[in-house]
Amino acid sequence: MAHLWLETGAAWGVMPLSVDRIYCLSGPEPRALANSERADAQPVTLCRSAAEWLLLVRPDNRATVNGSPVDLGIRVLADRDEIVVYGDRSGTLCHCFLSGERLASPQPFPDADGLGRCPRCKQPIENGQAAVQCPGCGVWHHQDERLPCWTYHDTCSLCEQPTALDTGYRWTPEEL
Ligand SMILES: [Zn+2]
Ligand SMILES: [Zn+2]
Repeated sequence: MAHLWLETGAAWGVMPLSVDRIYCLSGPEPRALANSERADAQPVTLCRSAAEWLLLVRPDNRATVNGSPVDLGIRVLADRDEIVVYGDRSGTLCHCFLSGERLASPQPFPDADGLGRCPRCKQPIENGQAAVQCPGCGVWHHQDERLPCWTYHDTCSLCEQPTALDTGYRWTPEEL
C-alpha cells in the first residue's frame, strides 16, 4: 500500500493511502474526502487513476513536485516525489513525500494464475497460503508454521531486504 510521509513539526509521520479514496492536500494534515464531498471543490487533491497517483491543483493554487510548479494543474507522481502545497501567503500548507514502499507482512497468497513458486524452498505457493511479498523485489515467499521460508534467513532469498517481520520502512525522507 502506498503512503505519504508527512512533515508534522520536527518529525515525519506515515499516512496510508487507499487507491479508492481521494485525498485533500490543502492543509497541514491531508485527509481522505468523505463520499459526500465534492473533489472538484478542493484546491489540491491526490487520487489514484489506473496505475498512477495523480496530483491535481485547481487554478490559483500553488503546489510543487520536486521543486517544479504543477503548470498544467495535473501531475503524474512517481515513488518518492516530494509534494509541497503553498498557502495564500508564502507559507507552506503541506509538505509530504509519496512512497510506494510496502512492509513485509504475512498475507493469504493471492494466486492469480497458479504460477506462485517460493524462491527459498522451490515449492509452489498455494492460493490462500500464508506468504510474504518481499517489499524489495516483490517476490512471494511462504511464511507459515510449516514453511517459514521468508524468515528462514536474515535477508530475502533474491535481494537485500531484511526479513524480520518488524522491519520498518527502509526509505524515509530523513535520508535526504
Ligand atoms: Zn517456501
Ligand atoms: Zn526480495
